Amino acid sequence: MRKNIVAGNWKMNLDHAAGLQLFAEIVNLVKVDVNGNQEVVVCPPFIHLSSLAELVKSNSTVSIGAQNCHHADSGAYTGEISAAMIKSTGAEYVIIGHSERRAFFAEDDLLLAQKLDIVLKNGLTPIFCIGETLEQRNAGTHFDVIENQLKEAAFHLEENQFKNLVLAYEPVWAIGTGLTATPEQAQEVHAFIRSKVGSQYSIQLANDLTILYGGSCNPKNAAELFGQEDIDGGLIGGASLKARDFVDIIKVFNS
Ligand code: PEP
Repeated sequence: MRKNIVAGNWKMNLDHAAGLQLFAEIVNLVKVDVNGNQEVVVCPPFIHLSSLAELVKSNSTVSIGAQNCHHADSGAYTGEISAAMIKSTGAEYVIIGHSERRAFFAEDDLLLAQKLDIVLKNGLTPIFCIGETLEQRNAGTHFDVIENQLKEAAFHLEENQFKNLVLAYEPVWAIGTGLTATPEQAQEVHAFIRSKVGSQYSIQLANDLTILYGGSCNPKNAAELFGQEDIDGGLIGGASLKARDFVDIIKVFNS
């Protein structure tokens, strides 16, 4: 049975005190709500990783993730953070290939392939983001775009590596825009992703793979989205900055 995950991406928000406060609110609200097959992940800016990971040591209902990492082991890369450093904080996940990294930091699939390698090598779980732009969807090329992203960044992995990935389908036109893919649009792409993974690796691996939806997910639309057969949870941006909204999204799996 594949795992349901709700992951919050705080992006570049919240100073240290505000981050600790939001995290405390989330942990408090989520405590009694998470079922056994579900995981909650909070991905704060790097500065919060150690403190939050320390806090979750005594609370296994929430895991911590980073939003990015460098593709090299270590070295003269001023301002960068390595996967090994992230691992050393106690964090367990790393978001790789978020569309904001692709768009604003020119991260392409070849670079992302290296990032997936280093994240897996360090025993962390990548949340690997794929998705099309509005132009690509309007041109009807979204399936090709997604298939290429998978092929170029992830399909070099061996089956026993790929099985450790979490995928996130995030249509770029839905991120932070208030526009959400309809449940049917999202389900169609999730099923497509699962079928491609099935052909590349095995049906078993595809069936066990957690595929999240991301893009203006909120407490009002989460139930319908997560109710789709191939949608196993969400990667949540804006709504993860409000404890009540984030936890209401998490609770969709308990209702
Ligand atoms: C995201 O940044 O991954 C995201 C899905 O953002 P939002 O929920 O704000 O659209």
